[in-house]
Formats: sequence, C-alpha cells, structure tokens
Amino acid sequence: MTQTITIKTHRRNELIDITRHVAELVSGNTVADGSVMVFVPHTTAGVTINENADPDVVHDILLTLEQLVPRQRQGYRHAEGNSDAHVKAGMVGSSVTVMIEDSKLCLGTWQSIYFCEFDGPRSRKVLIRIGR
Ligand code: ZN
Repeated sequence: MTQTITIKTHRRNELIDITRHVAELVSGNTVADGSVMVFVPHTTAGVTINENADPDVVHDILLTLEQLVPRQRQGYRHAEGNSDAHVKAGMVGSSVTVMIEDSKLCLGTWQSIYFCEFDGPRSRKVLIRIGR
C-alpha cells in the first residue's frame, strides 16, 4: 500500500527534513524488517539523504547546486522558465530506499531524509511504500 505525505514548501530552493514523517509511517506499519521507498512524483523536486547535524551542510548543498545550475542561462529553451529546477531535480534523483529493522529506519546517526524543493513555494507530495 502506498501512503502519501503532503508537504508545503516555502522557498524556491529548499531542503526539508521529512525523516520524522517517514519514521512514523514505518513504526506504525506491520512490516518490522524490510525497506521503505520514498518517491517524489514531481519533475522539479527530488529527495536525498544527507547530514542533519550542521544546518550549514544543507546551506552549502543548495549554494553548490545554485552555482552549478544558474536560474538564467543562455541557451535554455524550456518555455516555462524553470529549467534549472528540472536539472537540479535530475541531479538529486526522485527516490531513496532505506532499510527497516525492528520497525526503525536504518539511517546513520547523522543522516536525514530531505525533500528537495527547486521550484517552490508549492504544495508537494511524497509517496511512501513499505515492503519486506
Ligand atoms: Zn518546467
């Protein structure tokens, strides 16, 4: 069964820690040992796993993506004007899988699951599927 989380984003580029939401669904599921897939069904947003301890890491990830993929670039053709968001979404990817043991996520101490917004603010969806 697929469950859906709805996320309200607040900035054009933003990483939002969704670990708590995923962990709640995992702890409430009958599957104690298996895996959870977190999938983002959008073309200008994605999902990644990275450090949760120092917020400067999130800042630096966004800064680096911004510098690598500027919003305006000579040669962009996509008429919607958000080519940078599509490219960034492709770079981070649209899914992550995390193992589950004893109804808990097997994340490292410093790891969190981040929803990655690149064309906000918007209302977004994240699909969660838990399996054996
Ligand atoms: Zn577009």
